[in-house]
Amino acid sequence: MPNFQHLPSKLPAGKTSIFSIMSNLSRKHKTIDMSQGFPNFETDMKLKELVCKAMKDGYNQYPPMNGIPELREQIVAKFDNLYGKKYDETTEIIFTAGATQALYCAITAFVHPGDEVIVFKPAYDSYEPDIKLAGGKPVFVQLKGEDFKIDWEDLEQKINSKTRMIVINTPHNPTGTILREADMLKLEKLLENTNIILLSDEVYEHLIFDGEQHQSASKFPGLAERAIVCASFGKTFHNTGWKMGYCVAPEILMKEIIKFHQATVFCVNHPMQRAFAEYLKEPEHYLELGDFYQEKRDKFLELIKDTRFKAVISKGTYFQVLDYSEITDEYDVDFSKRLITEFGLASIPVSVFNIDGKDNKQLRFCFAKTDDTLEKAAKILNRISEEL
Ligand code: PMP
Ligand code: GLN
Repeated sequence: MPNFQHLPSKLPAGKTSIFSIMSNLSRKHKTIDMSQGFPNFETDMKLKELVCKAMKDGYNQYPPMNGIPELREQIVAKFDNLYGKKYDETTEIIFTAGATQALYCAITAFVHPGDEVIVFKPAYDSYEPDIKLAGGKPVFVQLKGEDFKIDWEDLEQKINSKTRMIVINTPHNPTGTILREADMLKLEKLLENTNIILLSDEVYEHLIFDGEQHQSASKFPGLAERAIVCASFGKTFHNTGWKMGYCVAPEILMKEIIKFHQATVFCVNHPMQRAFAEYLKEPEHYLELGDFYQEKRDKFLELIKDTRFKAVISKGTYFQVLDYSEITDEYDVDFSKRLITEFGLASIPVSVFNIDGKDNKQLRFCFAKTDDTLEKAAKILNRISEEL
């Protein structure tokens, strides 16, 4: 019998993601679930019908490795219309198994053992393991203050000859903050005359509020020439379970990324590509998303305005972070578990995104939920605020 006890782990620090932990706990206790980021309402029937139609029409075999031309054309046109950047539809775009696979391919393609990759914290949890698997070293820059601004001095100090890549994420998970034009211009200036690659995670590009404009890396020539922009259909079209995403990058970078795409999945879901290619012909499907989610954010915040949970209002994504320090000084992981088991509401403790798991007494709530769910959740938060 083989003995695998001493097999060296390639990710010794790897643990089950907080998103699985909290979602499973929520299912077990049958709670209101505002933890993992997914909507609890349906994706558009029209889009589902387009997928069914594509299947019935016989689009059930491998599509081209980099995606069907009709969908590449749509996405390339979207970048041109929204951000004024023309990507080549044959050589500068691929469709991936969610943004997750795009991020993985982008990092593994370029990060070599010993390379440093700058990651702003708090950060989404997939960058770090990808960097480590590639033998790279994540170098953290803490976002500062209530509105999680980039500390430019800290960033500048951490850039050196080993810096291969910088990862940005706007709108930002978990904080709901956004990078503005001035930030992107500063970054552009800072990276001028370097060979640093920019990995820009823009999965929430259309979930942006209060009249703000998404500042895609593709909009800034000095960034676009070094940027791999990752996006997710799941976030935009309420179907995270379909796991469909894409990335765009200058040809010279995409040539390398595609080798990893080829080796990991080769290509992704053909009928869904057909459906998205049709659906994207009506831009209102994504252009109206900001208003749609802003209403949800506002409803949720209005319903909890009299509680002792304090919010720095989310500017983008479908997450709202709430500070509970006026209610209890419990460790956020414990408090979020107690919210599930004693109060029937699931959230995500923000410490898991922080450097060394720093606990700032904050929980993240996903407000991509029906009004009924938001009302029930708010009732629970009001009760907690009164009782604890
Ligand atoms: N980046 C961020 C910041 C995310 O929140 C998510 C969603 N989980 C992803 C990437 C991955 O997106 P996908 O579900 O399309 O793989
Ligand atoms: N993006 C989702 C979130 O932040 C989770 C996706 C996942 O479970 N990996 O909640």
